[in-house]
Amino acid sequence: MDGFVEAPRIDVEGARTLAESQFGFRAESVVSLPSYCDSAFKLVGDAGETRALKIANPSWRDDRLLAEIAVLNHLCAAGAPAPKPLAANDGSELAVFEKDGRRLRARMFTWLDGALWADEPGLGNAFREKAGRFFGRLDASLQELGYVEALDRPYEWDLQQALRVRDRVNSVDDAGRRALVEGLFDRFEAAVAPVLSALPRQVIHGDGNEYNLLVRDGEVCGLLDFGDLAFAPKVCELAIVAAYAALSAPDPLAAVADILRGYHEVNALEEREAALVFDLARTRLTVSVVMAAWQSRKAPDNDYIGVTTGPAWRVLERWNGLHPTLATAHLRAALGWEPHPRAASVRAAIARAKPAPLAAELTGPRLVFEMDPGGAEAADPDGGFSGDLFARMAQRGARIGLGRYNEPRRCYVGPNFQKPDESPRTLHIGVDLFLPPGTPLCAPFDAVVHSFADNAAPYDYGPTILLRHQLEDVVFYSLHGHLSRDSLEGLTVGQAVAKGQPFARVGSTEVNGGWPPHLHFQLIVDALDRQGDFPGVVVVGERDVWLSLCPDPNLVLRLDEPVSIPRGRPAVELARLRRAHLGPMLSLSYQQPLKIVRGKGARLYDEDGGSYLDMVNNVCHVGHCHPRVVAAAQRQIAALNTNTRYLHDHLVVYALRLTDLLPEPLRVCFFTCTGSEANDLALRMARAHTGGGDMVCLEGAYHGHTHQLIGVSPYKHDGPGGQGRPGHVHAAPMPDSYRGPYKRADPECGRKYADHVAEACAAANRSGRRLAALICEPMLGCGGQIEPPPGFLRQAFAHARAAGGVCVADEVQIGFGRVGSHMWAFEAQGAVPDIVTLGKPIGNGHPLAAVVTTPEIAASFDNGMEYFNTFGGNPVSCAVGLAALDVIRDEGLQERALRVGGFLKQGLEALARDHALIGDVRGSGLFLGVELVRDRQTLEPADREADRVVNRMRERGVLLSTDGPLRNVIKIKPPLVFSQADAQEALAKLDDTFRELGKA
Ligand code: PMP
Repeated sequence: MDGFVEAPRIDVEGARTLAESQFGFRAESVVSLPSYCDSAFKLVGDAGETRALKIANPSWRDDRLLAEIAVLNHLCAAGAPAPKPLAANDGSELAVFEKDGRRLRARMFTWLDGALWADEPGLGNAFREKAGRFFGRLDASLQELGYVEALDRPYEWDLQQALRVRDRVNSVDDAGRRALVEGLFDRFEAAVAPVLSALPRQVIHGDGNEYNLLVRDGEVCGLLDFGDLAFAPKVCELAIVAAYAALSAPDPLAAVADILRGYHEVNALEEREAALVFDLARTRLTVSVVMAAWQSRKAPDNDYIGVTTGPAWRVLERWNGLHPTLATAHLRAALGWEPHPRAASVRAAIARAKPAPLAAELTGPRLVFEMDPGGAEAADPDGGFSGDLFARMAQRGARIGLGRYNEPRRCYVGPNFQKPDESPRTLHIGVDLFLPPGTPLCAPFDAVVHSFADNAAPYDYGPTILLRHQLEDVVFYSLHGHLSRDSLEGLTVGQAVAKGQPFARVGSTEVNGGWPPHLHFQLIVDALDRQGDFPGVVVVGERDVWLSLCPDPNLVLRLDEPVSIPRGRPAVELARLRRAHLGPMLSLSYQQPLKIVRGKGARLYDEDGGSYLDMVNNVCHVGHCHPRVVAAAQRQIAALNTNTRYLHDHLVVYALRLTDLLPEPLRVCFFTCTGSEANDLALRMARAHTGGGDMVCLEGAYHGHTHQLIGVSPYKHDGPGGQGRPGHVHAAPMPDSYRGPYKRADPECGRKYADHVAEACAAANRSGRRLAALICEPMLGCGGQIEPPPGFLRQAFAHARAAGGVCVADEVQIGFGRVGSHMWAFEAQGAVPDIVTLGKPIGNGHPLAAVVTTPEIAASFDNGMEYFNTFGGNPVSCAVGLAALDVIRDEGLQERALRVGGFLKQGLEALARDHALIGDVRGSGLFLGVELVRDRQTLEPADREADRVVNRMRERGVLLSTDGPLRNVIKIKPPLVFSQADAQEALAKLDDTFRELGKA
């Protein structure tokens, strides 16, 4: 059929009669189906059997219809999920009949069950790959049919014949869109059709759109509509499926890549075929929009026409800004091929040549500046090159400064570098050569001027010149940016520049976007038809493509020092090596693990410059890498680091400062390196002081990883791999006034939980042994961010003491002002312990911990055996501990925890009113918990949902974790520098995430 013929007019009653008279099928129900140019019906018989009935458009030729039946029989015999043709009453494949004097032909097929791909929008990229594989296999099977003359016919939907519809472009009303499709037909004619015509042809389905592919349980389960069968290059099949897949995907090109990857996996493509996929996909969309415009003029009431026109125009318009070579580079990368086909030969040709130095200074002493988030120069990960860069070069005797290639730089994030809807471009793909303004620059190889531009307002990054080089038969380009304005004077395109000849000068700060003067030098394999405005900074996620298009400039510079960032091991490989060499039980946070390289304040940065708000790390209490803490450590480690057997001011001053913050009678310090060591020591002291050996702890508690502490940590000994509670340990229920037996509304709640502690202490003494200690956290961390009800701790301590034990408060998680109202969480409960253990936040990330106790207990512990800890209390650790205390005081962090924590808690409570999943919001200061439940009555724990929230928040750039015995509590414990703006950001993103989850 070439040209539009109206579909045969048959109604459902006509279809019912036809089915019975021609095929002997009695239909109970008949439904008319949308069809492009045939009439189609779904019939259900009285036993529930289902058939499809199609009355062909009169313009189809019989041999075409018979060919379709032959193809379907071939596919069905091969096991492909295609409709099976059923013979008519007289045994023929086509039932021929007359209606209104017209000869019509009907066919009946088995019905295929399944959902339309179009109705399953959430299937995503994994399904697109499956669809690609499906068509790859289908085409392998179709290829066996060889040449089928009836399918080798003039047909406008056959993609190789796209130019047949060119003369219908006038039907497109909008002038801009008309020009767009005109341009695409030109491109097809010039660059696609000649290659296509040389490719081998075979039978293809030719219409793999989302209304023809059926899905069940995420798998392809059927293919419909073989009316567009064609004898065409197989790449047309793939391009058609890809074009339709692109319409519904957030990233249309990525959707094309998914289809291509899947197809290629089972039905390999040649490079020349893959090179056509992008152009063919957009040609398909072009034909589709032009045909829709043309047909809607002819038949304005046919709804089927133009189902996809809106999205097709949007994709065509979006792709109009994408150079086909660049698009193809992305597609090649998806197949694991070198993205640009000429990249390897350009690299090899340059490597064989002898370049001239770009600037004389390159041969002298040099200084490399590291601006990636983990780099030495990026203390402020958002900052650019600092103004004193030339002074630092002078200080180090360097004549030239170098900025690196393949370097992600956060300083490019912002409105100066990308449009509001663009992903941030942060990856630097040239090298910077910092040189005084006016420094002459020479051509590395013989060249002609390819293009130049003065990139003035709004970004004003100055003149750029692109030189075109040819080495042997290989052509490539070099880009020279931020040049002086006079470099362009008298310059002409095509002008020859000899190797080593000065042709431009370094510009001043004014033509450098305000940066210190430098040349941006970049190698380019393919200029992508751009004129002097080639990107020098690109999206990190497109790294492979751009590094192939723009090779390492050190191929030309030939410097010994690394001016490109070495490619780190890929995340999957790091994770594998970790499993092999770090103990397989060491878990990684998040489904997509993070590779963090820098921290500052309450933020963490990954190696590619991604920024994350850290709401998990209570260890870096005063903020990641706080400059005062860093400076104190650096100063002391450069002066002395020894053990505590010499006199040292830091050790004593630190003990004084710590005990000053604690109530009487906690006056004697013992320094350790970890919280576990501190708790282990505290329990030894309790034994020495009481002569007892039994311990009381709380269910759900965690106190550390030593053998003795696992014993008092039900979180571990009752958890996976745990050996159960040892005989000398007695556990009381967690004082959980949300989920536990006594609720918050009960004024006696605290006492009732404390009574259970009394029972546990009594049990310890009944055992024939004696109670040594009650150990507990004044607010429980791993137990699920639990704030005990008022009076609990005071009364629990009283019971323990009455039973002869000492009271150990584990402040490892919560100490140092985190709870806001007090410096220590036990103070908030009006209790004073006999021993307090400190860890985590005490050293702001440096391994430091402490036990502080009473002079009496310290004396009991002094039984002749020395307590010595090689690292505990060393001068560096004490300097760090002192600096952290200074910052807590000077920056008013306890008050800040109270203020910002209060704001955040209120915001979370407001979220709880909107989102039923939030069962409880609890805690104080910046130690908060959000417990998720599926039902507020039964409190069914929503652990999977909690996990989803945490992973979704990580994607949104906020780090959280889950904990609690049921793993359904979201823990919030950020560095105390966390601000109100940070809280607002987190609340807004949580709101979005809960909303999303509510819909799912
Ligand atoms: N006590 C508590 C309450 C803890 O949460 C932890 C660590 N999570 C520890 C002690 C042990 O500290 P560390 O890991 O430094 O040994």
